[in-house]
Order: sequence, then structure tokens, then C-alpha cells
Amino acid sequence: MTLEPDKQLGMTIEEEYTATHSKSQGLYRRAKEVIPSGLVHDVRHMIPFPVYMDRGAGSKVWDVDGNEYIDYHPGHGTYILGYRNPAIVEAIKKQLDKGIEFGSCNELEIRAAELVVEMIPCAEQVRFIGSGAEANMLAIRIARAYTGKDKVIKFRGHWHGAFDGAGFAAVSAPFDVPYSAGTSKEAFKDVLLANHNSSEDVRRFAERGDVACVIMEPTGAHHGMMPNRLGFIEEVRQITKEMGIVLIWDEVMTNFKLAAGGAQEVTGVIPDLVTLGKSLGCGMVVAAVAGRKQIMQQLAFTGDKRHDRYQRVRSQGTHSGTPIALAATVAGLEILKSGEVQARMNRLTGVLRKGLNEQIKKHNVRGCAYGDYSIVRIFLNHNCPYLGKCDVEHCSNPDLEMLDAGMEASLRSKVILALLLNGINCGLGLVELFVSGAITEQDIKKTVEAFDRSLARLKAEKVL
Ligand code: PMP
Repeated sequence: MTLEPDKQLGMTIEEEYTATHSKSQGLYRRAKEVIPSGLVHDVRHMIPFPVYMDRGAGSKVWDVDGNEYIDYHPGHGTYILGYRNPAIVEAIKKQLDKGIEFGSCNELEIRAAELVVEMIPCAEQVRFIGSGAEANMLAIRIARAYTGKDKVIKFRGHWHGAFDGAGFAAVSAPFDVPYSAGTSKEAFKDVLLANHNSSEDVRRFAERGDVACVIMEPTGAHHGMMPNRLGFIEEVRQITKEMGIVLIWDEVMTNFKLAAGGAQEVTGVIPDLVTLGKSLGCGMVVAAVAGRKQIMQQLAFTGDKRHDRYQRVRSQGTHSGTPIALAATVAGLEILKSGEVQARMNRLTGVLRKGLNEQIKKHNVRGCAYGDYSIVRIFLNHNCPYLGKCDVEHCSNPDLEMLDAGMEASLRSKVILALLLNGINCGLGLVELFVSGAITEQDIKKTVEAFDRSLARLKAEKVL
């Protein structure tokens, strides 16, 4: 429901949002009674209240008040092909009629694994599991069993999911404390915390001789929001190879988005293990660990009772590779394997970044819209010391603290509200846009126009 311009007059962004989202507000009041803060995911925390979505189709979502948005946060980055892609819907419907979960083996897991092996360079074998965090937990466990060592090298700022062993130095400064209350200090005793972009730290830790694995996001902290410097991943690959340490790439966010073969195809650097998620299910709940057969064989039964009881890696989970999700995986990967969809997504995102930066310049705001592949992050009123000295679209800022300091929380909320009022949904936690395969040239044009109106409104309200 959009208010007529005369009705908007004199209203603040927050007042107009409240006036046009009354059903969302009502649901939020109800939710708070039975759900802490009314939220089932922390990043949806939003002032004055979150928007409640009702349905999606292609590149669009509609909220419960009937407002339409171009969606740049489709399922936290899972819907790589957009909502209700016909091939995915068809595959899910077909499986729905047969059965959601059998608790038994099913042919879909073989076809899905074959497709992952075909697409991802390091993948010789695959194991499906429920979520990205579980995939990382399992990958670390496999690496420990394979090397007989315990320590894990992790980088400040890299996010690997909400489990104790990785929830350290993960989301926001200060990076040297657990990201959540209630995490066990014991869980961190095996984590060696390396500095952002520091292969010197990796070498120094590796020389201790007790390191099982390095886990990292190949595109940099938070899927490239604070990118890795050039040459860094090659250096880490070199050190881990020399020292017999398992290199795990967490591609839960980036897999199949950068290209059919993910970051491995783009960089030519090949880790030992990779964790996959999000786009793997095209909206459905599935993740995986994949990698070199010799290492993945830690999961295999050998028939040797002693080995299978004491040396084998165990993995189980009710929804590990559930057929209803793998039906979507198979249908999705069949579309994504040529890489054409991703090439188009990357190209359109380049157009979007350029258009957004032109608006930032036109409105004379200090900020940028940057990122690589099909992702854009917007920082406004930005205190980055590199701004103006960089190419704006591709961040080369080495200072991890900027991940946080880029945009103050109340400003971020206002920007998100202003974008919602102009028909753009970018999720509620960050001003971050994932361009899905359903986004059109027309959507990009409309988004830049909406951003123009949003900046004007934010400036008029003296938020910027
Ligand atoms: N690793 C990365 C790089 C991620 O982006 C995420 C999710 N944002 C995870 C792991 C955790 O995945 P999940 O939320 O499915 O547990």
C-alpha cells in the first residue's frame, strides 16, 4: 500500500513505513508474545518492526499489506533462480507427491552428488547435510580425523555458521570475543585465530605442528564484504600443501553464484574440502561437504570393527539430504551447470553497482556500493579512509574493523526503510543486495531510480 504524495507530506520515513505496514506491525506485536523479540533470525531485527512477507514470484516479493518489492534478499541468498522458478517448482511438486523424507536411501542423492562432482573442481565425493553450519562442523571433524590433529586456523571476520567452534571472531568488532553469550570457552581452545589476510599468521600457526585444517571464506570475510587481498588464497594453499594441513573453503554463500564451479573455477585455486549450502538447494534446506576422495573416505565404513568404531567420522542428521530438497538441487544444478545464468547475474550486478554509485555521487553523499560477482553492499555516510582513493566498486580496504564501522545501525535501519518504501527489499540486517537469476534489466533500472528517490528522501530528512 503506497500513500499518495499529499498524504506523505510531513511524514518521516518511519511514520510512513508504519502507516503502510499496519499488518506487519500487528503480526510483530503478536509474535513478541510467543517468540523472543518476535524474531526467528537475529538479522531480521529492525526498528520500528520487521516487514512480514507473504509470497514471492520471480524477482518480486509481496508483504502481508500487499506492498510489492524487487527482492534482493531472496531467502538469505538461497533462491539463486528467484522465487517459483518453474523447473524447481515442478521438481518439488513431483517429489511432494512421492514423499518428503523416507529415512532411507534415494536416487536423488546420487544424481545431486554427481552434479556437484561435475561442477566443483575439488569435489570427488560429496556428503549432504542439513545446514551450512553443520557442513562446516563436519568438514572440520573430517580434517581432524584425517590428520590426527586438533587445531583449526580460522580468520578474523570470516563467518562459518552459528556453532560454538566457529562463532569466534566472526560477526562484529571486537573480533576477539565469542560472538554470542552462552558459547563455551572450551569450544575455542582449539581455534587459532589468524588476522584478516595474514598468510604470515597461517605459517606461524602451521609451524606448531598440531594443525588439522585452515577454514576460510575464499572471497573474504562475509562473502567478500571485506575481500581477501590478491595472492592471499594462493599463499594459504601453498602453506597448507607444504605442511599437510587440510584446506577447507567455506563456499556456503558463494557456491554456484560466482560461476558454475564457484570460487574454485574463478580463481583456479583448489582446496581439499569445500562446504556448500544456500544456492545448492535453490531455496530448499540442504548443505554439503565435498572434496578429495582420500579425505572424504574418513566417513566410509571399512568393515574393520576397530577402525569403524574409533577412527571413522560419524555423520547423521534427520534432514541430511532430504529428497524434497535434493529434488530442487538436481533441477537447479541442471540449470546452473552451464554457468550462463551466473554470467548474466554478474553482468547485471556490475550495471547495478555502477548505477548506485552514480546516484551516491549525484546526491553528494560519502559512500559506496561495492562488491564482486552478484552481490552489492552499500555503505553511506561512510568513514572509510580509502574512499576516494579506491575504484569504489571493488573494495581494497585492508581494515577489517570497517566491516562494522561502515554504517551506523540506526542509519542502516532508515536506509532499509527508505528502500522498502521505494519498492526495494534488501533484507533487514545489512544494506546488502543479492542479485538472483530472476532479476531483469528492467528491475535494475527501477532499482537505481528507487535508490535515487531513497537518497533524496534520506537527505530531506537529514539522515544523510
Ligand atoms: N558459511 C557462510 C560463508 C555463510 O554465509 C553461512 C550463512 N550465512 C554459513 C556458513 C552458515 O550456513 P547456515 O546458516 O545454513 O548454517
